[in-house]
Amino acid sequence: MTTSFRHIETQLVHAGEPLPRILGAVEMPIFQSATYEYAGEASYHDVRYLRTNNTPSQLALHGKIAALEGAEAALVTASGMAAISTTLLSVLSAGDHLLAQSCLYGGTHELVTSEFPKFGIGCDFIDADRRDSWAALLRPNTRAVYVEAMTNPLLQVADLEGVVQFARAHGLTSIIDNTFATPVNYRPLPAGFDLAIHSATKYLNGHSDIVAGAVAGSAAAIERIRHKANHLGGSLDPHAAFLLKRGLKTLALRVRFQNDSTLKIAQFLESHPRVAHVNYAGLESHPRHARARRLFAGFGGVLSFELKGPTSRADEFAARVRIPTVAPSLGGVHTLLTRPATTSHAGLSRADRERLGISEGLLRLSVGIEATEDLLEDFRQALS
Ligand code: PLP
Repeated sequence: MTTSFRHIETQLVHAGEPLPRILGAVEMPIFQSATYEYAGEASYHDVRYLRTNNTPSQLALHGKIAALEGAEAALVTASGMAAISTTLLSVLSAGDHLLAQSCLYGGTHELVTSEFPKFGIGCDFIDADRRDSWAALLRPNTRAVYVEAMTNPLLQVADLEGVVQFARAHGLTSIIDNTFATPVNYRPLPAGFDLAIHSATKYLNGHSDIVAGAVAGSAAAIERIRHKANHLGGSLDPHAAFLLKRGLKTLALRVRFQNDSTLKIAQFLESHPRVAHVNYAGLESHPRHARARRLFAGFGGVLSFELKGPTSRADEFAARVRIPTVAPSLGGVHTLLTRPATTSHAGLSRADRERLGISEGLLRLSVGIEATEDLLEDFRQALS
């Protein structure tokens, strides 16, 4: 039994948790069991088994994430890519066509450009800022449109309201990767999207210690995705589920602090004479600042920037900072610094990266929960 709660802070702690509490335990135990006693289930998909995504820790997460996203249902998966691939393969079949935002996370970009053509699924990329250009790319077999809440690593903010209207007008399933915004800053389903996906590896878990994914939507859509997941096999293990549920409890506290800290760091970098350019939707100089203010409760914990001078300056800066760890990924309590050309977007050719505006020297910063003043002091000395 679960109760519904109005505010996200309360949902994060209590939604989806089993009631009555198991043997009175305040925190739900880890259910380290792959299989469960047969209880007369008629369908293979209902037999309780870790891969069929219906064991106690998985169900608790489904309830919690659905509450956060304002969804009827949710599903957790073994990684963000498992959520993305399983969702897309449940919406698209051989002969179908997808419209996707042009500057996607590198793994998703590769999936739709390198893998999907082998299954007869086509994809065209849209400039998600120019709604008047999308209709020309529609085909009779177009089934879905796929965007990200804020793009990685350039922090572009697409015309998300336009995407919802376009999808509805043309009978397409609208899918958004909400990893960068999190439900604290943006809730896509109440805004009209059909499906919201997360790399829960990032903010939802928030501690850089597991890989996980999630998708939220209508009960019918999630049940179709769960069946696909049961066949593809990317289910979340009980220990990772425990850590994810534990990490989620502090999501609102972490993200609000990170929103605030990142804005201050973005303002500092933008005013520094050695910095050429900062990408962060919270800055008034961001081309879609007004849109971001309208859509989001906060601008998130990731920014990217370029230093003046040759590309080697980026590596020099990375070698000089003391607090950030030079590592890929984002959304955790530790501040991480990375050069997307060599990590998240290394799978793209240099020409493709240049076309998308990802220069070789671009640095991406995922701001953790260290004191903002300590980070500012560190950046000041690294730039001096
Ligand atoms: N979506 C976004 C926006 C990401 O940044 C990432 C990973 O960096 C993914 C999806 C993939 O997630 P995972 O690494 O959990 O599979």
